[in-house]
Amino acid sequence: MSISSSSSYYQLQPHSEEMEEGEQSQTQSQSHHDHHDLLPTTYEIEEQNNLDRTFFKIRYRSNSVVSHTSSTTELSTNVQLPTIKVLGTGGTIASKGTTSHQTAGYEVDLTIEQLIESIPDISTTCLLEYEQIFNIDSKEFDIRQLLQLYAKIVEDLNNYDGIVITHGTDTMEETAFFLQSTINTFKPIVICGSMRPSTAISSDGPMNLYQAIVIASSRESRGRGVLIALNDRIGSGYYITKSNANSLDTFKSIGQGYVGNFVNNEIHYYFPPAKPLGLTYFNITVNDPITDQLPQVPIIYAHQGLDNRIFKLTIEGLNAAGLVIATMGAGSLSDNTNTYLSELVSQTEFPIVYAKRSMDGMVPIGALPRVPIINEDYEINKGSIIFNNAIAGGYLNPQKARILLQLCLKQNMNLKEIKKVFKGV
Ligand code: ASP
Repeated sequence: MSISSSSSYYQLQPHSEEMEEGEQSQTQSQSHHDHHDLLPTTYEIEEQNNLDRTFFKIRYRSNSVVSHTSSTTELSTNVQLPTIKVLGTGGTIASKGTTSHQTAGYEVDLTIEQLIESIPDISTTCLLEYEQIFNIDSKEFDIRQLLQLYAKIVEDLNNYDGIVITHGTDTMEETAFFLQSTINTFKPIVICGSMRPSTAISSDGPMNLYQAIVIASSRESRGRGVLIALNDRIGSGYYITKSNANSLDTFKSIGQGYVGNFVNNEIHYYFPPAKPLGLTYFNITVNDPITDQLPQVPIIYAHQGLDNRIFKLTIEGLNAAGLVIATMGAGSLSDNTNTYLSELVSQTEFPIVYAKRSMDGMVPIGALPRVPIINEDYEINKGSIIFNNAIAGGYLNPQKARILLQLCLKQNMNLKEIKKVFKGV
C-alpha cells in the first residue's frame, strides 16, 4: 500500500471528530464572507492545472431562470443562506442521446454548468458554486477518481455548508459507501444522478439535481451521513443499492428503507438524524490521488457448479490481499468449496468476506462454515472448526463489503481487527 507513504503531493485529513454547533456557525459565517466578496461577479473562471487535466472552477450566483426575488442586492444582504458546492462527475444525468426516446447507449456530453442551467432558480434557497471534477460514466470510476473526489470534498467541507455530487447511478452506491466510511462530518453530502439522459422525454436529471441541492441546503439533513437522492426518495448511501438497471425508481434498501421523501418542494424525514450503527470511520491520508492505491480485493460470484480453481487463479493472479464472495444465500457455498478455501488459505490471515448475492437480508456470523481441522503438517484431522479466515458480510452487498475490506487492509488491520469492523455491519 503506497497510500500512506511519505512523499507528498498533498496530505489531507478528513475531520476526525464531528464539529460542534459552535464551530459550524463559525464556518458558516466564514463562507458567507467569502461569498459576499464574490457577489458582484456573476462568473469567476479560474483555470487550474491538475497534472493530467485542466478544469475550470466556476463560481456561480444564479442561473438561467432567475426569479425577480433573487437579485444580487438581495443575495448580498441575506447572510442566512447556506452555501452549497456542487461537484460534477458525469453519469447519465450529464449525458445526451441522439433522439428524445433514446434511454440506452447515450454518452456523457453535458457540463455541470449546463446541468445547473437546467434547474429552476435556487438563489433564494442557497448560495451555489459548482465545479467539474471529471465528466465520466460511473463504470470508469476507480480508486483514482474516488480519491480525487474524496480530497476535493474534504477541502470544500471547510468552506461550504453542504456538498452535492452528480454521479452515474451504476456505481453511485460504491462512491457513497466509500465517502461515508472516510468522511466524518455532520454536513450534508448528497449524491444524485438520473436514469434518463438529459435529451430524453421526461428526463429525471433536473428534478433530481434540484432536490439534491435543496436537501443539502436543509438543516434537517445534517448528521445523516452521505445521502442518495433520486426519484423523490432520500436514502442512506451506506445501505442503498441500485436495484433496477433501467427504471427511475431504482435505489432501494429493502430492509433499512429510506430516510426520507421529497414531495411538493418539501423534505420529509421519517426519523431524527442518525448514521448506520455498523459504520466505522477510516482516517485515510491521501498522498497523491492520481497514484495512490487501495489493496486488491476481488469479488467472486458464487453459483451452482462453481469451479474452485477460480479462487486460486484469482488470488494468486491478482496478488489479492483479501477476497469477497457473493455467496448463494446467507453465506452458503458448497462444502467442497469451503474445504478447498480453508486449505488454500490455511496458516494465513487472508481475509475472506462471505457476502450475499441476494439483494436483501444478511450473512450472520452464525452462518459461517465449519471446515475440517488441518494440522501443521497439512493432515486433515477428525472433526471440524469454524473457518477462521471467514468473515460474515452482514447486510453489506459484495461491492460495499469489498470497499470496507480494502479500507481495513489499507490500515494494516489483522484478521481479528477486520472481524471486529465487520461485526456490526
Ligand atoms: N451509465 C450511467 C453511469 O454513469 C448510468 C447512470 O448514470 O444512470 O453510471
